[in-house]
Amino acid sequence: MIRAIFPGSFDPPTMGHIDIAERASSLFDEVIVLVADNIDKKSVLSAEERVDILSKSLSHLENVSIDSSSGLVVRYAKEKGAKVIVRGVRAQSDFSYEFELAMNNKVLNRDVETIFIPTSQDYFLLRSSQVKELVAFSVDIKGMVPDDAIGLLEERIKKKG
Ligand code: ADP
Repeated sequence: MIRAIFPGSFDPPTMGHIDIAERASSLFDEVIVLVADNIDKKSVLSAEERVDILSKSLSHLENVSIDSSSGLVVRYAKEKGAKVIVRGVRAQSDFSYEFELAMNNKVLNRDVETIFIPTSQDYFLLRSSQVKELVAFSVDIKGMVPDDAIGLLEERIKKKG
């Protein structure tokens, strides 16, 4: 039985995240998508909202559950008996950051392995920060994020033009 954790900020969840969660679901027996509830990092959506959006978008996958945590991912993994941390990678620039993160996590918990899943071509340029920027400029973000996220983002993000 291999349980995997797919952690992230998911502020907001994008179709790139959904794609990685779906692909992880077919690789592992169980996947927990873990929303980082980090009080130091200002987020547009609350942890509950991010959990809710992910739960609805991934409800078709029986082996995927959603949770949030304000603690270290490796500690969470240990508590849940999860052996794998899944991270998605887009360009080379993601890779160096993700590689260091994986090294640090290995030092903190030797029993956990990080598995990278390369982004699908359609989502290569999609990132949460860019989605928020587009909303600020009143660009239609349909298809980039789950529909449930659109209204919330439009009402929270101050328009720049
Ligand atoms: P964090 O703040 O922890 O990096 P993110 O919410 O930005 O969290 O991303 C969570 C994970 O999903 C990261 O591994 C990130 O590289 C990956 N990811 C983000 N966007 C995409 C995408 N479009 N395609 C594939 N992976 C992605």
